[in-house]
Amino acid sequence: MSHFIDVILPLPLQKRFTYAIDEGEASFLQPGMRVAVPFGKSKVYTAIVAKIHQTPPQVYEAKPINQILDKQPLVTTQQLAFWSWIASYYMCAEGDVLKAALPGAFLLESESVVQLIKSANIEEADLKDEEYLVIEALQRQSSIKIQEVMKILDKKSVLPILNALVEKDLVVLNQEIYEQYKPKKVAFIKLNPDFDNEATMHQLLDELEKAPKQKEALLSYFTLKAKQPKPIKIKDLSEKSGVATAIIKSLVKKEILIEYQEKTDRLSYGGEASEKGIKLSELQQQAFSEIKEGLKELEVCLFHGITSSGKTEVYIKLIEEVINSGKQALYVLPEIALTTQLIQRLRNYFGDKVLVYHSKYSINERVEVYRHILEDSEKARIIVGARSSIFLPFANLGLVVVDEEHETSFKQFDPAPRYHARDAAIVLANLFKAKTILGSATPSLESYFNAEHHKYALVNLNRRYGDVLEPEIEIVDLKTKYKKKEMKGHFSDRMLQEIKETLKLGEQVILFQNRRGFSPVLECNTCGHSPQCPNCDVSLTYHSHNNQLRCHYCGYHIAMQRKCMACDSPEITTKGFGTEQIETELKSIFPEYKTARMDQDTTRGKYAYEKLITAFEQQEIDILIGTQMLTKGLDFRKINLVGIMNADNLLNFPDFRAHERSFQLMLQVAGRAGRTKKRGKVLIQSYNPHHQIVQQVSIGDYAGMYKDQLEERYNYKYPPFYRLIRLTLKCRDYSKTNDAADWIAIAMKNVFKEYVLGPEFPPVARIRNEYYKNILLKIPQQQSLGKTKLAISRIMESFRAISAFRSVKVVINVDPV
Ligand code: ADP
Ligand code: ZN
Ligand code: ZN
Repeated sequence: MSHFIDVILPLPLQKRFTYAIDEGEASFLQPGMRVAVPFGKSKVYTAIVAKIHQTPPQVYEAKPINQILDKQPLVTTQQLAFWSWIASYYMCAEGDVLKAALPGAFLLESESVVQLIKSANIEEADLKDEEYLVIEALQRQSSIKIQEVMKILDKKSVLPILNALVEKDLVVLNQEIYEQYKPKKVAFIKLNPDFDNEATMHQLLDELEKAPKQKEALLSYFTLKAKQPKPIKIKDLSEKSGVATAIIKSLVKKEILIEYQEKTDRLSYGGEASEKGIKLSELQQQAFSEIKEGLKELEVCLFHGITSSGKTEVYIKLIEEVINSGKQALYVLPEIALTTQLIQRLRNYFGDKVLVYHSKYSINERVEVYRHILEDSEKARIIVGARSSIFLPFANLGLVVVDEEHETSFKQFDPAPRYHARDAAIVLANLFKAKTILGSATPSLESYFNAEHHKYALVNLNRRYGDVLEPEIEIVDLKTKYKKKEMKGHFSDRMLQEIKETLKLGEQVILFQNRRGFSPVLECNTCGHSPQCPNCDVSLTYHSHNNQLRCHYCGYHIAMQRKCMACDSPEITTKGFGTEQIETELKSIFPEYKTARMDQDTTRGKYAYEKLITAFEQQEIDILIGTQMLTKGLDFRKINLVGIMNADNLLNFPDFRAHERSFQLMLQVAGRAGRTKKRGKVLIQSYNPHHQIVQQVSIGDYAGMYKDQLEERYNYKYPPFYRLIRLTLKCRDYSKTNDAADWIAIAMKNVFKEYVLGPEFPPVARIRNEYYKNILLKIPQQQSLGKTKLAISRIMESFRAISAFRSVKVVINVDPV
């Protein structure tokens, strides 16, 4: 009998591919194992076995696999089921999901690059011959492709050799250069085993009579050793004994103590759980019980708790119950809310049972986390992570918490799979028969709608923890302020007054401005020209710190212009304002205080964001100016004033969610104010002080906002009443973009009639020299989603068969946000 496997390749293929295996391989292989397979003319890829069977493919002859790469499945059956759901729901290839789901180091292919780790400790004696050949080649050449390794070793199956070198920490694969993995080396000391018996020990102590300091250090070492079984650092001993490190070093020199190095596990957490008990307040306790009650009947509970109501503590208690029952808990947050502060809070409570999964982690760190979870290790009880953590290989998930569920960053925009981590998390939980909690102070309309219609349980917590009052919100009318000349730059007199008072009391200020850079555009007063990006249809933005004009879409930049590029007039002004301009103005008004900016420009490096937060926490910064990054989960005690510089540029954003989004953003930033006994203050500057949303923010009227917005969504046929699928066409050729868009739109209108909108150019119609055009499909509730997607797939199939449109890319986005 012949045997076959269907595999998922890390490529955007519409189908799984079938390969032939022999009897022995068939009895060994299991779904979820990796195999190296030939694909195309000469390439080799790592693929995942999805199915083992006896049916040969009909249209091609199955090639044999090159080799098996795992002894145990690396991907669980739940993951395979989850991938297949993601691919079909979000209309993408399983290969796309595979690439998003597995750390790159697991997916070697012939194009992968091998590099030597600079700090590698190469012990030639420990290397097998072939390993040695690879290392030798790498010493001559900084990086080589796996294909070249095949040539060097004159064989196809090189992956096991490379994997062995990775295990030995000698090489890295597929690694971006800047992420060079540096194992942390920490020096410890221990007693020379020669002295490990009473007789020699007494003799030693007698000898040390003449060196009292050294004796003291040694005695301290014994006390410390008796107290803690952990390895002892020189630094620790010096601190505990009060003896200088030099003296300890002299004991090392005498070989009484031995210094040794140990690679610390990057995932390990030194401390033990310290925050022994969290005692929930009465209201929190009530919410806790209601959530459990609600989850008895329904799969999902929406937890609507205002900012600072103590949702985190409620999650912690719920998570605790789940892990005590032997299951794993997943806690998903927006990338930016995954702060050291939060992780510390969890570790204080749960000790080293918490694993963190972060996209800024290096490939090796991600591999470690992945392995711990796959093995269901003691470290993998609670997994805290950003969006992509839903792809981890959970063994027995008991609970998923999605905090800040309204956050649109949960939706992956590019590349495919364009999944929504909140929605996908619910499906993931279902695969394990686990429950999901969605938490937010400002739930998305979609989730609240589901709660209202009893698809989700709903639990409210509308008091701040510790009876802290909600901040007082005041609206400042910019129109009148400008008229009465009560403005200084972009600051109203009210704003300046409040800032001054807050600073005088030694408290901190947060200022929110929804734009980065100095000022969005430069404009000529004479002819009205604004410098444009040559690659994209947008104006360039002025950045004062490097005196540049930059494109936020493609990174194109030129030096700041002295005169108009069109008419040579020197009269150019900056229009609009951003975080940088606010900072400049502030510095001149409050030169004696320290200001800092938190936006995409200042938080680029791996720890830049953390550093800013720490500096702010330690009150090295008095005023923090930022974009929406400020809204996420920062919990500082000393912020007493939050200023929203301009509510209008949020409200005027051309999107059907703009009002909902503005409400959420403003209420979230406002929530950063006054987290202690003293009541905080929020000032909102706006040209439209009577705007419904501004008013609703000022009294924290979520119900009012929900009702109004829902009505609009109903009237204009938007979610949650209609589902959306957006097709975006991209092409370098303008008329081809138009023709292709028309072709697809007509085909779609044939099927879906008036529910097809467009084609339409988006506000920025050209990015990096590619034209963009959108087609939007609205899907009424009673229409089958499956059939709709099938019809779109058929249209796309015919479209792809037209050779004239071959250069047109089509991106399908299901549930765009
Ligand atoms: P939310 O996530 O709802 O905005 P947090 O969970 O951050 O609120 O809680 C706000 C503050 O109140 C935090 O500083 C938190 O440590 C504190 N807090 C909340 N609940 C408790 C509790 N039961 N015991 C002690 N402190 C608490
Ligand atoms: Zn001009
Ligand atoms: Zn550009």
